[in-house]
Amino acid sequence: MLLLPKFDYEEPKSLQEALRILSELKGTAKVIAGGTDLIVNMKKGVLAPRCLVSLRRIGPLRAVGMKKTAVEIGSHATVSELVSSGVIASAAPVLARAAASLGSPLIRNRATIGGNIVTARPAADLPPALMVLEAKVELKGRGKKRTVPLDGFFKGPGSTVMNEDEVLTKIVIPGVPAFTGADYVKLGHRAALEIAIVAVASRITLDKPGGSIKDVRIVLSSVAPKAVHAVSAESFLLGQRPSDELFAGAAQRAMADASPIDDIRGGAAYRREMVGVLTKRTLRRAFEEARGREAGGAL
Ligand SMILES: Cc1cc2nc3c(=O)[nH]c(=O)nc-3n(C[C@H](O)[C@H](O)[C@H](O)COP(=O)(O)OP(=O)(O)OC[C@H]3O[C@@H](n4cnc5c(N)ncnc54)[C@H](O)[C@@H]3O)c2cc1C
Repeated sequence: MLLLPKFDYEEPKSLQEALRILSELKGTAKVIAGGTDLIVNMKKGVLAPRCLVSLRRIGPLRAVGMKKTAVEIGSHATVSELVSSGVIASAAPVLARAAASLGSPLIRNRATIGGNIVTARPAADLPPALMVLEAKVELKGRGKKRTVPLDGFFKGPGSTVMNEDEVLTKIVIPGVPAFTGADYVKLGHRAALEIAIVAVASRITLDKPGGSIKDVRIVLSSVAPKAVHAVSAESFLLGQRPSDELFAGAAQRAMADASPIDDIRGGAAYRREMVGVLTKRTLRRAFEEARGREAGGAL
């Protein structure tokens, strides 16, 4: 059995205290949220922080709510809380769908949204849904604060723009335009406890019911070192009237936008093919949802 290396453990009651500890320990301390990634990596010997700084006593980091038309999610909200939240169900159901596909009930009860973002796994479930929702993350360090669009947050596997002394405090999802719909589909070998072979999130905004595509976002996961936009598929769809033929054309372009590799979970050619299938499926469902949505209403 793999044993954990020795470490100190802090449970600050405020964010200020957490930021002070992280700044004083200069890169030798790590934040721990649910621990479902961190503890596994520590057991494997990949990481050996001198101190773990838990966020569990910092109540405000768990809040999920609306601020005017935006949804604000504390980074310590668990994945289970995203699945059961009424706010998420009505304002960002695509995020609830992605959350429900993560791990198992046991993992979802511990895993947090912040941890899922900061680990920067190429196959993580929440970033694609958050990226089509144009989410931004708030990062706080001692005496400093910045907001970064999730599109510009990931650098590669396990790598982000965050500094070692920063804490991801909240995720902000801007208000949703009228006639918008979105969907997320994850393909795995089994229905639960499965990392994605391929996953796709799509979002469509129509200019009016029965109208043309005013805005579109397609994010591909598990087919590049980080979640990526299918940029040529997105520009192909803009301004067009939705149809099955149009979505098939976009799916072809999304396949070309992906750069999958062969690994134990699937071959590159299979993954590319599945990008096409899931892109078409998510676009169709996003379009169905977009029809008839009221201004500022639920996705
Ligand atoms: C059996 C199993 C199944 C899994 N299945 C899936 C799956 O289907 N889909 C999926 O996407 N993932 C899956 N995971 C991975 C993991 O559960 C998720 O990535 C989870 O969301 C991580 O969150 P956490 O709160 O446990 O993070 P932790 O393990 O606590 O932290 C992960 C990393 O993020 C940092 N961190 C956490 N919160 C913050 C913060 N607020 N500010 C700064 N840094 C922070 C930590 O320092 C650490 O480096 C699985 C893991 C296991 C063990």
